[in-house]
Amino acid sequence: MSVRVRFAPSPTGYLHIGGARTALYCHLYAKAKGGSFVLRIEDTDLERSKKEYEDAMIEDLKWCGLENHEGPVKGGDYGPYRQSERLDLYKSLAQQLVDEGKAYPCFLTDEELEELTEKAKAEKNSPHHYHDKYRDLDPAEAKKRVEAGETHVIRFKNPRKKYTFTDIVRGEVTFPEDMVGDFVIMRSNGMPVYNFCCVIDDWKMEMTHVMRAEEHLNNTVRQLMIYEAFGVKPPEFAHCSLLVGEDRQKLSKRHGATSVVQYKDQKYLPQALMNYLCLLGWSHPDEKDIFDLDEIAPIFDLSRFTKAPALYDIEKLKHFNGEHMRRLSPDDLLSYLKPTLPSDHPFHTQSEGWQKDCVGFFKEKINIPAELPEHLEVLFSTEPQRGEAVDEVKGWETTAAIQEYIKTEVSKLAESGAEFITVDQFNDWTNHCKKELKIKGKFLFKGMRLALTGMAEGPDLKVVIPLTPMSVMKARHGL
Ligand code: GLU
Repeated sequence: MSVRVRFAPSPTGYLHIGGARTALYCHLYAKAKGGSFVLRIEDTDLERSKKEYEDAMIEDLKWCGLENHEGPVKGGDYGPYRQSERLDLYKSLAQQLVDEGKAYPCFLTDEELEELTEKAKAEKNSPHHYHDKYRDLDPAEAKKRVEAGETHVIRFKNPRKKYTFTDIVRGEVTFPEDMVGDFVIMRSNGMPVYNFCCVIDDWKMEMTHVMRAEEHLNNTVRQLMIYEAFGVKPPEFAHCSLLVGEDRQKLSKRHGATSVVQYKDQKYLPQALMNYLCLLGWSHPDEKDIFDLDEIAPIFDLSRFTKAPALYDIEKLKHFNGEHMRRLSPDDLLSYLKPTLPSDHPFHTQSEGWQKDCVGFFKEKINIPAELPEHLEVLFSTEPQRGEAVDEVKGWETTAAIQEYIKTEVSKLAESGAEFITVDQFNDWTNHCKKELKIKGKFLFKGMRLALTGMAEGPDLKVVIPLTPMSVMKARHGL
């Protein structure tokens, strides 16, 4: 049987990085096994589901490089792929369970439910055991009340026994007999609940594996009951480790950016985000940490999931972005970084050759595009720097001599029409200061740096000086 896996988001918000990780594992596993990766939209919560979120999710999955083989846009043999378009199926199967005595209509009103919940609290019991009042109501009587239009939900008749299954990540998992009560499968507005439609769809769409986050583990017991009620063999389950923030709490907005779109907006490389997410809950057989999806797909397997909660660390993600950025070809590097700079940045006024040299040098200094403008200051800033380090160098009398000499040289060069200072010229000037002005050591190197860049520290002058436009050099010397 060929592998079929699905990513089944509820369109109630933007694609979360936890969701992107699940989608990534599904994508990789389908690819590794030559199977199908299915996108299913779980939109039965009418109040919270929005089409704009569905569209955004599809867009963001595409940006991640996780395109599906079947889904609401792509279509496929198992559609429709939006749960809101499959309501008749859920209704008829819920009715089938009622007819078979495996589910029943429940007429508890909201007030009654609340009262029972309070009672359970007072008696220090879990409330679901108090919600089964209609479990043994005569089916004929129940049918009459339903037909008379009485408001009701449909509850699943819990077989009240222990459930055990083997999870790919967590091993054998046992749910005690009293873990859940007679849970609702159809709401009073006629809409099915997640646990019910999820089972129906995973079954009817012939899913072989269900990968999802650990927080769904407790839903699995309900889902196992439903599979059993229909006499259907459940798929294999893999409940992937929880993503946590530095305080070890479940990842949430207060830990920083948690939506894929935020990383897209901050111009992270999708391949870096995918690489990082892949390793949060899975490990490479050769302990390799930097890879592309194409490299990893052939060796991705389900035996390498890790159980422990995975720490989501944005600083680490930045490092991954830097590594992937440095793997880009010169052309791709320029195409990546150039559009991240403001349109009025002087970078754009330089030639393409200059731009390539420039990003080729600064890629070593940065991990994410947002760090680039600050580094470019050394090439474009005409504001004299302040601070103790600058003042110290300025205070040396040798510095004044260097500055005077450099100003004359820059002026001569500018008049000759040169657009840049070459490395040779820079070397000649340094030698002049050494031999003629008799300046040595830190007085020479720091003095040269201050005279040329206005800064006390910075990257290699032999690289930055030939990249600094003459207009900037002139402005720095009041020319
Ligand atoms: N709609 C559920 C969610 O977004 C899917 C869970 C599952 O994969 O079964 O959390």
